[in-house]
Amino acid sequence: MSASKTTLSLEVFPPKKDDNFANAFSTMDQLADLKPSFISVTYGAGGSRSKNTVEIADYIQNKLGIPALAHMTCVGNKKEDIDAVCTQLADANISRVLALRGDRPADMTDEQYNGRDFAYASELVSHLKEHTDFTLFGACYPEKHFEAMSTRADLMHLKQKVECGVSELITQLFMNNDVFYDFADRALAAGITVPIHAGIMPITSVKQVATTISLSGTSIPKAFSDLVARYGDDPEEMKKAGIDYAIRQMQDLIDGGVDGIHIYCMNKPKTTASIVSALSF
Ligand code: FAD
Repeated sequence: MSASKTTLSLEVFPPKKDDNFANAFSTMDQLADLKPSFISVTYGAGGSRSKNTVEIADYIQNKLGIPALAHMTCVGNKKEDIDAVCTQLADANISRVLALRGDRPADMTDEQYNGRDFAYASELVSHLKEHTDFTLFGACYPEKHFEAMSTRADLMHLKQKVECGVSELITQLFMNNDVFYDFADRALAAGITVPIHAGIMPITSVKQVATTISLSGTSIPKAFSDLVARYGDDPEEMKKAGIDYAIRQMQDLIDGGVDGIHIYCMNKPKTTASIVSALSF
């Protein structure tokens, strides 16, 4: 948290099929109108389709002139694969990487998992710090990463990751700002002083509650479950209520001096624009 102005950034995902790039580019064009300080592009945990991440990041960086932040996961990648993606990113003039471990793919054997080249994101960060000039971002979890033994252990691992060379952090999505403020205080007390971007996902349908929210382990505050109880049967009203909740959540964070708002925008330019236009930074 700082006294300087809160930044706005967005997360997008690349097309899953190679023939969907025209659609994706049009989505990026519309999101660019919101003038985010950067747009991050997700990456498959197994490392397959990494070229789609590079291609979308290249478009954002070089065609739209907006800084692109390329996500990179290492759980399913050998060092040589990581180095090859780094070369592609550097060739495309992309200088920001979100260094992640990634989740273990369901089809990965114990032998493959235990023999992975990078055990944790911090090892990927050290490798990238040594061999590239990228500015490195890392992920953090206000409600604790699901594998960590304790909140304290998770925070110590996060500190270690930052010390390996992370310059900025982006949080997992959360719906209760008190959880974030508590995390930001604990991070600062532990000596983590890099900017923290608050990751917010607008929840606009009941289906998203059942999928995204439960998968991410995010707790749902009563204020939001009350909205679901009230509007859950009416998709249009649910969407409006979800957008309104996200706006109120983000405005509170901006007023509270958060370093950055990072919208998990799910490639939805209209919903994202309606939220951004309601915020005062
Ligand atoms: P790490 O920082 O390695 O942490 C993973 C776990 O290991 C934590 O519990 C941590 O406490 C523990 N740990 C760390 N170091 C040690 C150590 N030395 N000893 C013991 N335990 C340790 N996934 C994708 O597949 N693609 C994406 O594009 C993607 N983007 C994301 C963006 C954001 C902002 C966030 C928050 C998550 C994203 N994810 C993505 C999900 C992420 O890959 C998973 O949450 C994954 O399980 C953890 O990745 P990490 O980089 O945070 O791991």
